Amino acid sequence: MDVVSHALLGRLLVLDDRGWTRAQLWLVAIFGALPDSLQVPLYLVVGGVHERPWWLPWNEDWRGFREIHPYASWLWEVPHSLWFVLLAVVPLVIHFGLPRTCIAAYASHIVADVLTHHGEWATAPFFPLGPHVEGFWSAWDDHPLMWAACWLGLLAIYSVAARAWRRIAGAPIPLPPGLTPSLIVPHGRQTARTG
Ligand SMILES: [Zn+2]
Repeated sequence: MDVVSHALLGRLLVLDDRGWTRAQLWLVAIFGALPDSLQVPLYLVVGGVHERPWWLPWNEDWRGFREIHPYASWLWEVPHSLWFVLLAVVPLVIHFGLPRTCIAAYASHIVADVLTHHGEWATAPFFPLGPHVEGFWSAWDDHPLMWAACWLGLLAIYSVAARAWRRIAGAPIPLPPGLTPSLIVPHGRQTARTG
């Protein structure tokens, strides 16, 4: 899965964004993409070695890389481990008082990669202790057009799910017959209005 899709997936976790600031919503999206962002230096080095424009590596540049450079691959492995979530992300979020959804957004990245990484870039969600888990396909090797399709799919899911959620959460609670909303307005508010 590409970085933008991961960010969208993280943002999708906040279906009802009432009460959220724009900065908080961006933060949740950033946490969704964060596990890949930590390997930016490695990304640029691979692009540079293959003399790619802007040092941005092509998918094929990653083939065989993990086997040849197992320790450099740790820059990808470590932030894709659930141990990292437990030992680094959770303390960070709590210490800085960030929205707890940031933790879920970060974890959603790992779950998505476990499901969508197959073969040589399969994810080890309990690295360094657990095995690599084979996903259903090699999303890391997708064509950019596939990324765009994924963005549109996630935006469509968000749009439908957010509307459905708002309808459920925002719908007025049905009242028993004979009880009108004015009868359940808090006493203090009625007094304030008349005063
Ligand atoms: Zn990833």
